[in-house]
Amino acid sequence: MAIGRSPERIVVIGAGMAGLVCTLELMKQGYNVRLLEANSRPGGRIYTMRDPFADGMFCEMGAAFIGAHHFLTLSYARQVGVQLINVPVPGRSLSYINGRLIIDSPDEPALWPVSLTAEERMLGYAGILEKYLEPGLQATGNPFLPGWPTKQAVQLDSMTMEQYLIGQGASSGAIKLFEIGYMQMLGDGIRKVSALQRLLDLKMASSERSTQTIVGGMDQLPKKLALTIGSTISYGCAVTHIEQSNKEVTIQFIHSGEVFTISCDRVVLAIPSTVLRTIHFSPPLSKEKNEVIQNQLSTSVTRTVIQSRTRFWRNLSSFATVNTDLKIGWLLDATFTQTTSKRGLICSYSSGESARELSRAGTINSAISEMKQVFPELSNHYEGGMVFSWDHNPYSRGAYAWYQPKQMIRMLPTLFSEQGRIYFAGDHTSLFPGWIEGAISSALRTVNQIVSSNSL
Ligand SMILES: Cc1cc2nc3c(=O)[nH]c(=O)nc-3n(C[C@H](O)[C@H](O)[C@H](O)COP(=O)(O)OP(=O)(O)OC[C@H]3O[C@@H](n4cnc5c(N)ncnc54)[C@H](O)[C@@H]3O)c2cc1C
Repeated sequence: MAIGRSPERIVVIGAGMAGLVCTLELMKQGYNVRLLEANSRPGGRIYTMRDPFADGMFCEMGAAFIGAHHFLTLSYARQVGVQLINVPVPGRSLSYINGRLIIDSPDEPALWPVSLTAEERMLGYAGILEKYLEPGLQATGNPFLPGWPTKQAVQLDSMTMEQYLIGQGASSGAIKLFEIGYMQMLGDGIRKVSALQRLLDLKMASSERSTQTIVGGMDQLPKKLALTIGSTISYGCAVTHIEQSNKEVTIQFIHSGEVFTISCDRVVLAIPSTVLRTIHFSPPLSKEKNEVIQNQLSTSVTRTVIQSRTRFWRNLSSFATVNTDLKIGWLLDATFTQTTSKRGLICSYSSGESARELSRAGTINSAISEMKQVFPELSNHYEGGMVFSWDHNPYSRGAYAWYQPKQMIRMLPTLFSEQGRIYFAGDHTSLFPGWIEGAISSALRTVNQIVSSNSL
């Protein structure tokens, strides 16, 4: 910013974590910032659903966990003063495969109902993960060091995760195990996703014992950040047009049915590619930029939440989560940190084609019948539920970005490059889509781009 001149006017679009952090940091640098948000709440894909549930219970529809190595997320959580709590790690893991509940623990390894090699049976689930994933995790390299992407990283980006696993010697049974649970939650699963993205994402997820969540709901983080920012945020403002000239940027948005325009020196778009596609740019963005925005894929995620009269699953002693091979995907006790009620919420996390099928069904019935297969007791305790599809949320149009082979390394530099006075933030412009950490790092990178560029 030029010293001795009036501060540059910057408009940030989107009050998710990327837009909030960008706004806060630009304000600290002395810029004159305004933040426009389409919804009436901050947080975007940090979305704690409270309304339909009894006794003050809530359920995370989006971000729920913070890893011990998510230093940026933890730093902003500390700055705004939210309280964190460790996520309990049960001694046994539960899976539901081929119609059977499978219990696995170090003392009593499961007999997996898939065809594994003799060595894989000996290794057990944790051993299989280590044998096949460790070489790939090493081969991704450190994307924060100069010289990245390395030859090995480029190679990983040219194959699917399934091809990588086959190359490591994984049997068809081992691959079936990889298709259940977390490994499957990126894009359309391991048969389609780039091995490089899948492995980098696993590094972010790394199942350390110190994963945390926010007491009272994840939405405390964006809400408190928004309070710090104050009246700089305008809610209910859906941006539709952006016009750039040599002198300024003009932004058109709709607020309570009326069309408004404002002008500024620069604009930061902190909204996913899927929504950027709906905005009209004049003059049009470069061909290259437009191509990546049009083609960046977004993972389909559908969440189904069931309210239960009691937490009958406490009798199962180890239920915190169940990985299933059903359309409902991953089941989670959504109320494991909530103690206000004897009632409880079970939430499912379904991704890819299963998520699209569940949301197309339009009712909760097929999800409930699958949940009852896993927990027959649910029939006596069910009180109601709801389905939420990220594909149908107009301001995200999907859950988080994913890449097929040969897309990630090619698209990323174009995704985060500026276009004149227009800058691009959001987790989809980072190495870690699907993580708050990715959203915050994209915001800090954007602030750097602005601060280090010449004054306009
Ligand atoms: C199902 C799911 C599970 C997840 N789990 C985790 C997890 O456990 N841990 C973790 O760290 N991360 C998780 N994430 C990822 C995390 O939620 C995101 O990475 C992060 O919140 C993205 O922030 P953002 O600011 O980039 O985008 P967003 O949060 O999408 O923010 C974009 C904002 O822009 C607004 N907007 C869009 N269009 C317009 C427009 N035209 N005009 C004005 N405003 C507009 C939107 O309303 C929104 O508020 C999960 C996400 C999902 C969906």
